[in-house]
Amino acid sequence: MTTLQDCRALDAQDPLRELRQLFALPEGVIYLDGNSLGVLPRATPQRVAEVVQREWGEGLIRSWNTAGWFELPQRVGDKIAGLIGARPGEVVATDSTSVNLFKVLSAAILIAREDHPARTCVLSERSNFPTDLYIAQALCRQHGLTLRLVEPEEIAGALTPEVAVLMLTHVNYRTGAMHDMAAVTAAAHAAGVLTVWDLAHSAGAVPVDLHGADADFSVGCGYKYLNGGPGAPAFVWVHPRHADRFWQPLAGWWGHAAPFEFTPDYRPAPGIARYLCGTQPIMSLAALDCGLDTLLAAAPLGGMAALRSKSLALADLFIRLVEERCAGHGLGLATPRDPARRGSQACLTREPGAGVDGAGSGAYAIVQTLIARGVIGDFRAGDGGRHKDILRFGFTPLYIGFEDMWHAVEHLRQVLETGEWRQPEFNQQQAVT
Ligand SMILES: *Cc1c(COP(=O)(O)O)cnc(C)c1O
Repeated sequence: MTTLQDCRALDAQDPLRELRQLFALPEGVIYLDGNSLGVLPRATPQRVAEVVQREWGEGLIRSWNTAGWFELPQRVGDKIAGLIGARPGEVVATDSTSVNLFKVLSAAILIAREDHPARTCVLSERSNFPTDLYIAQALCRQHGLTLRLVEPEEIAGALTPEVAVLMLTHVNYRTGAMHDMAAVTAAAHAAGVLTVWDLAHSAGAVPVDLHGADADFSVGCGYKYLNGGPGAPAFVWVHPRHADRFWQPLAGWWGHAAPFEFTPDYRPAPGIARYLCGTQPIMSLAALDCGLDTLLAAAPLGGMAALRSKSLALADLFIRLVEERCAGHGLGLATPRDPARRGSQACLTREPGAGVDGAGSGAYAIVQTLIARGVIGDFRAGDGGRHKDILRFGFTPLYIGFEDMWHAVEHLRQVLETGEWRQPEFNQQQAVT
């Protein structure tokens, strides 16, 4: 049996333990939801205040030049590039993940239609994040294509001659299952299919090598593992072989080759800059920049490889503690055990009908009870079929320690054994889960 002492010993040996000091974690909170919204870095409030008071307040419009506002999407993009196997100058931080996906999927469809005019289909995974599927549905309607949705194990067999583009999320938001990006991309290319990878649950969480995998297009999120704050700008990467081939559909003036010439005709900037649209949110970009600096602070301590090995060790410990200490309460594991096949989260399942009076699974109420005790994870509803209700716990090795795993699971054990989660106040669904 694993003990609290064992967990403390792991913290004592952890080369990354000092990085927690870079974050403003509230007292009494064990935060296992950095996969939804990362924690506030200590440096962010001061940096944002400086942007507001000095750069905006005093510099005013001069700051587009003097404070480097104009190139901020590229400067922040270069920091992201180093985390995802892209090269400097290939990434911009801008807009939301949904909007960036619209841009790259449009470009991918246009390229595929030029190279393979007979192809009529976009392929994705049924359990992909809904916004990704909605954007794909909208673009398929617009271009007269069909969206084909399959289960993960069916992807290889579904790469038939009708498929133009394969759009996947690298790490599944619901289960934490991770695709082998290099293998899936190679299979797609062998079938003449372009790939679009959403890195929302990957960037800053697992090592990613877009060039190593020879991927085509990618987007990802700034407010999850990159700690950029609520609604932080997302990012977009396009392989240089495609970047100049088509206009992206949101051809705003910031993607123009010379925006300040104010010419009536659109002339797209070379490379990734054309994936910008309008004037950029400088305060949000400054906050994202601070979030990225917290990840870069891990570089001298082993960087993404060290973060990855700690994240896997945290999840392994969490799963082991749940199995040792919470047995007999109807919990299962949705996340693959194989480290090569999972991201940075552990998702527990509950059976349908295990809730109060057989209504639901009780997973939502258990998560609410844990949150009331300061252990913050989240709940994701099942689909009544293949996917059960999920209690989702994300592990951000920058600010989570091994002792946290002990306390989180001890709270879970108490919530289950006392039946505290059955109280009505924990069974009322709120707007954001
Ligand atoms: C979090 C997430 C998003 C979020 O998209 P927004 O445009 O920021 O709301 C999109 N896709 C995936 C796969 C995600 O996990």
